[in-house]
Amino acid sequence: MKLALHWQVLIGMVAGVLFGLVTRNTGLDIGWISLIADGFMRLLRMVIVPLIFLSIVHGVAGIGDGRSIGRLGAKTLGWYTLSSFMAILVGLTLVNIIRPGDGFTMPAGAEPMDPERAQAPDSILEQLVEDLIPLNPVGAAADGEILGLIFFSICIGAAIGVMSGPSGEFLRNGFGAGFQAIMKLTTWVIRLLPLGVFALLTRTVNDLGIDLLQQIVKYMLTIAGGLAVHFLVVLPALLFLFMRKNPLDHYRAMGSAMAMAFSTSSSSATLPMTMKCVRERVGASNKVTSFVLPMGATVNMDGTALFECAGALFIAQALGADLSFTTQAIVVLTALLASVGAAAIPSAGLVMIFIVLEAIGLNTPEAYALAGVMLSVDRPLDMFRTMVNITSDSVGAAVIAKSEGEKLNY
Ligand code: ASP
Repeated sequence: MKLALHWQVLIGMVAGVLFGLVTRNTGLDIGWISLIADGFMRLLRMVIVPLIFLSIVHGVAGIGDGRSIGRLGAKTLGWYTLSSFMAILVGLTLVNIIRPGDGFTMPAGAEPMDPERAQAPDSILEQLVEDLIPLNPVGAAADGEILGLIFFSICIGAAIGVMSGPSGEFLRNGFGAGFQAIMKLTTWVIRLLPLGVFALLTRTVNDLGIDLLQQIVKYMLTIAGGLAVHFLVVLPALLFLFMRKNPLDHYRAMGSAMAMAFSTSSSSATLPMTMKCVRERVGASNKVTSFVLPMGATVNMDGTALFECAGALFIAQALGADLSFTTQAIVVLTALLASVGAAAIPSAGLVMIFIVLEAIGLNTPEAYALAGVMLSVDRPLDMFRTMVNITSDSVGAAVIAKSEGEKLNY
């Protein structure tokens, strides 16, 4: 009997954590494990650009008229905003109740965050327009600029969708075939997931900087608590509200993608798996899957949004800064923008926190120093936020698929 993939992944995770503890304590060389982890991440990244391009063009070309694309777009943006906003409210509430920053003393030997890395872009909206509309779509694809690639793919997919006659038919069939090929390749890469997860977690546990842990445990618990509330209460409640279905069925269907997000800390590396689970296990159409998920992986980040809000307020509390209603309102809005702008890669959320800090006038050396401390414990938090990020994308896809009259598997 063959063990289901999610069980294999779970075994890989547990083995990875245990083996990481062993190598950490024995000083065993993990060079070859690092090689496997890097190789696996490279394979995932190898499929992302063609997967996004082919799936969106194929999906959008199949939607047909512009009105349907507009309707799907409006629902998708509606979901992104609603779910991220709810996540921010959870973070805001917890940080005000727990107040993790009060009385915080900087641990001795804390390294400030490199200001180069901490540089927030001048205007996030300007940045968004630049990221969204590529001057050269091929260049965007070559440089891995995902938002630009998505935008171009939607446009060309819409054009192919309205083409009539044999040329339109030919292109639609061709892209359909290309999409099948890339899904096949993705399936092969995903078969390596248990091994990849094992290697990634061994390395993470082996390298984890836990020396500063006690100092900052309240902060970590606040973020982790907020993520847990959003993951276990808010998203299931939204799912039930919109779909009248048992949320557990959805979570079960997404298990492998969640485990992968947890192990890779990257929504974009997880995207092939998220798409596979939503299409095959949740049962959403390719049209909805390829519209909602690739964009969601880069734009809709509930866990990151929660973190931007709670993390910035933690810094403000620790530095004894003003926390009036207006300040908190600014934090809420900029946290939403920062989560939209954050790249779907490890620790991108922490870099974007400077946008929030800048908006409330806290872009100071003390704040950099605190961000440095936060960076040293960011990995485990990032693992949880990435899991929350992709879960929200998948719930959105299910809700939207149902609203389009699709019949799901649960
Ligand atoms: N690692 C997260 C993701 O890829 C982004 C973040 O750092 O919050 O979804």
